[in-house]
Amino acid sequence: MAFSLCETRECLVVPRSVLDGLLTALQIQFSHPSKYQTKHLFSGYFFALDVDKAIDLVSSSCHICETVKSTPKHFQPQSSEEAS
Ligand SMILES: [Zn+2]
Repeated sequence: MAFSLCETRECLVVPRSVLDGLLTALQIQFSHPSKYQTKHLFSGYFFALDVDKAIDLVSSSCHICETVKSTPKHFQPQSSEEAS
């Protein structure tokens, strides 16, 4: 570990078993922020190993996050060739 976010403040070390639940709670609490924001929020209070991986997992399994991610609908690829 070359860095320490917890140097100057008290951080709670979060065990892997509750990490997903905690991240999900953060997601709900902060209206589904981006992965970057989630990491930032998390790091402000907690510390956990593999948090990036866990955030990835939580946000990709959260359908609200998926919706938020794909919000710019006008950037959708052209699908006018739908032959129906
Ligand atoms: Zn979410």
